[in-house]
Amino acid sequence: MSERIRVMLGAEPQKPAVISPEAREWHAMKRVNKEDFLAMKEHARQHGVVSHKWRNRRWAVLLFCNLLFTFSFWLDIQLLEGALTASRFAGFHLIDLNSALQVMLAHKHIIVNLFIGTATVFFLWVLLGGRSFCSWVCPYHLVAEWFEWLHLKLVDKKLVSDHQFHRGARTLFWLLFSALALVTGYTLFETLSPTGILSRALIYGPSLALGWVLLLLMFEVFYSRRAWCRYVCPIGLTYGMVGTLSPVRVMYRLEHCFHEGDCKKVCLVPHVLDMVVKGRAEHTEVPVGPDCTRCGLCVDVCPSGALQFDVKGLSRML
Ligand code: SF4
Ligand code: SF4
Repeated sequence: MSERIRVMLGAEPQKPAVISPEAREWHAMKRVNKEDFLAMKEHARQHGVVSHKWRNRRWAVLLFCNLLFTFSFWLDIQLLEGALTASRFAGFHLIDLNSALQVMLAHKHIIVNLFIGTATVFFLWVLLGGRSFCSWVCPYHLVAEWFEWLHLKLVDKKLVSDHQFHRGARTLFWLLFSALALVTGYTLFETLSPTGILSRALIYGPSLALGWVLLLLMFEVFYSRRAWCRYVCPIGLTYGMVGTLSPVRVMYRLEHCFHEGDCKKVCLVPHVLDMVVKGRAEHTEVPVGPDCTRCGLCVDVCPSGALQFDVKGLSRML
């Protein structure tokens, strides 16, 4: 787990030092029977069911969660109040973990109500997968995903290219925004966060801050693919840490993998899929690391079903 946290903080994934005998057997088999392996790969490709099942489910859940806030406000239903960063559901305070941290740093003491609201959210996201907040709830994720499609089209036509930054930048931004809240007593990140801006715009109506979101999207379309989520947003890193404890994950199964790498091409955080590279998996089953947003795009795109959702402990019981 420490290696996965290191990778999440920005380190490059390393070749595993020890590979289990079962995994070694599979790696060797794929090398020795090259012809058979290629024939099986072709067969899997022809019969693979590449769908948008998880993507469609995720979009529906994301829209439902965000529109629930909107309709609650418009129809004045007091079951759900507030926005994504801080809300009250049936009397329970729900505070986004990163916002709560920033506010407590700015106030320089632990605020009891905030702490209780944070604890509820913490347990919820431990159960649901940590960074699954990003792909199943965050409104910026959805909009950025649509604009990413445009970026990829332009890359395809060689009109733009994807400029990559060091992934460790996100850890530095996390520290920077925390230090700024502590020193200035002001939560600068909350002003800049497209998650909060879009959530508030959906509920209370558009504001000038949407111009900032548009600027971010243009930067991602013309300069760097999904730059905010990949290199800046501290919310993603906070929920990634929560995800280290989560039983919900994507599981990789070496025996079903033909190493074509389609999964890495669609993934927001391809460093978590290092085990799909030939010879890299240290076991026959490897859980994908905590930076994974559980978006399901890799599950949808894998033609041979090597990546599947899994709940720790549950799959063995079923
Ligand atoms: S990284 Fe931030 S902006 Fe991106 S999806 Fe996660 S919470 Fe939203
Ligand atoms: S590993 Fe799969 S589920 Fe996780 S973020 Fe990447 S594409 Fe999404």
